[in-house]
Amino acid sequence: MNAAAFLRCIRPACHATFDLTAPIFACGRCGSLLDVAYDWDRLSVPASLSFFQERHATRNEPIDFSGVWRFREILPFAPPSDLVTVGEGQTLLQAPDIRRLDLPLKPGHLHFQYEGLNPSGSFKDNGMAAAFTMARILGRRRVGCASTGNTSASLAMYASLTQLNDGTPMRGIVFIGSGKIAHGKLSQALDFGALTLQIDGDFDACLKRIREAADRLNLYLMNSVNPFRLEGQKTIMYRVLENLDWGPPDWIVVPGGNLGNASAFGKAFIELHALGLIRRIPRLAVINASGANTLHELVNNRGLRWSNGAWDDAIIAGHRNERATAGLRAQTVASAIEIADPVNLPKALRSLDAMNGLVTDVTDGAILDEKARIGRTGLGCEPASAASLAGLRKLLVNGQIANDARVVCILTGHALKDPDATVRYHMNAEPSPPRESSAPRAQFANNPIRVADDLDAICRVIEQQDIAR
Ligand SMILES: *Cc1c(COP(=O)(O)O)cnc(C)c1O
Ligand SMILES: [Zn+2]
Repeated sequence: MNAAAFLRCIRPACHATFDLTAPIFACGRCGSLLDVAYDWDRLSVPASLSFFQERHATRNEPIDFSGVWRFREILPFAPPSDLVTVGEGQTLLQAPDIRRLDLPLKPGHLHFQYEGLNPSGSFKDNGMAAAFTMARILGRRRVGCASTGNTSASLAMYASLTQLNDGTPMRGIVFIGSGKIAHGKLSQALDFGALTLQIDGDFDACLKRIREAADRLNLYLMNSVNPFRLEGQKTIMYRVLENLDWGPPDWIVVPGGNLGNASAFGKAFIELHALGLIRRIPRLAVINASGANTLHELVNNRGLRWSNGAWDDAIIAGHRNERATAGLRAQTVASAIEIADPVNLPKALRSLDAMNGLVTDVTDGAILDEKARIGRTGLGCEPASAASLAGLRKLLVNGQIANDARVVCILTGHALKDPDATVRYHMNAEPSPPRESSAPRAQFANNPIRVADDLDAICRVIEQQDIAR
């Protein structure tokens, strides 16, 4: 191996390496996940992170404008001439009003990393910019994914905007399961012209099928098992650091679905630390929905750990078999994290180890209430994103996160992704969601009020409501 960027098995005991362009997503020797790895000594890495801020001055250059590629020296797997960008990553670190959130945390200590500002409305664009770059280098025309929604929306957008080097348009193919898909997301896949297949099966089944189809049809898989996706998603952390003047917060709180973000964030900090670009690594909290809480169950109840890369596959297989026997499927209103068998599990264990992390889970009722609270701060997000705030509240209340900690919650997707969930919450004001009969009523429901077409009646209602607030 003499290239400075290559694929490498994540198991330290194996660490088999493969050419960067090898058409594989699993180690050819032991079957584990692969990392994009670098021989940093042979690459020129800036001496300080502040180097990247200077790119704001040359933002008329697309790869300096991109919130992914302006960090290209620390995800250096492709030459600048090959980078795919649609202007992703123009996100902001927002400082919400803690009093509005009624959160036991010091004012000024909470930030929201608002990834809903990406072109397709979710953080997935960070990863797609990187994975499409690789697809183009490999000359792969067919690109595909299984999706709970946002991956397909992002893939469909990039597929429509990207051509191979010989000018051939790319073909986006998405597998949608029979589980929930939010209409905002489905509408994007359809509108951007992706070939959309509805499969009779849940997300986990779709992912299995598209991996099989990928082998047969020379289709390039764009799910987060593709390690190039995670290279792009590292930049979410770079932007968080940049907005905090390169000083790491105490905690990063992120919803956990397929665990791509959890994996990418850990890799970002492991690398920055090894390169001497940061001194302290923040802690990581991964938040599952209680109806899709495999990571929580494995880590907190069954003691699964990274164990220096010798994690216990038997614990994972045992839980998978129990679920299958009991016919259990992932089930949550937060459709983007409705995943029972997270493909990046071992990488997420590595992140938890490197970031001294922890895992918890939150109910659908809590997720929807926190989503409404976030909406009232003027930001807005989809249900899965609000799991981060629901998890933070739980961890503050039970003392696992201190009240004076500096915390960044990742808001993964835009509010308009799932308007049905929002409208259902505000207009029905019944237990949220209905199937969770023990759940409290929607605490922050904002029902429209029916009023006769009569000026007196209208004014009366407005005045009454002012008093009620
Ligand atoms: C994909 C997605 C998630 C889950 O992220 P993972 O990296 O798969 O854990 C969470 N929220 C939103 C909005 C998503 O689109
Ligand atoms: Zn291996």
